Amino acid sequence: MKLVIDESRCKGCNLCTMVCPYHIFQEGDRLNERGIIVPRLDRPERCPNCRLQKLYGRRLCGACALICPDQAIHWDEEKPYEAQKVVIEY
Ligand code: SF4
Ligand code: SF4
Repeated sequence: MKLVIDESRCKGCNLCTMVCPYHIFQEGDRLNERGIIVPRLDRPERCPNCRLQKLYGRRLCGACALICPDQAIHWDEEKPYEAQKVVIEY
């Protein structure tokens, strides 16, 4: 699962930066084409590997998605790892 901020919906309120227990959401530093400073993600792979899953009783705490007023946060399913054939030349 890959954490994604939908830049077409985000209004840069930074509420998400205040709730994540891992501080994955960090205040951004660049304007996008809509003139919004969208938060940046710091090592977002920590989210679906959360150590607190048993405490939550589910895989994600979901605090960021709950607090986002614009439903701009979601998780994309990623393709499972596929083995690749490689040619090794000596
Ligand atoms: S679901 Fe929880 S741990 Fe994952 S990014 Fe959102 S607030 Fe952070
Ligand atoms: S809470 Fe939602 S709208 Fe606000 S900065 Fe985070 S992603 Fe953007």
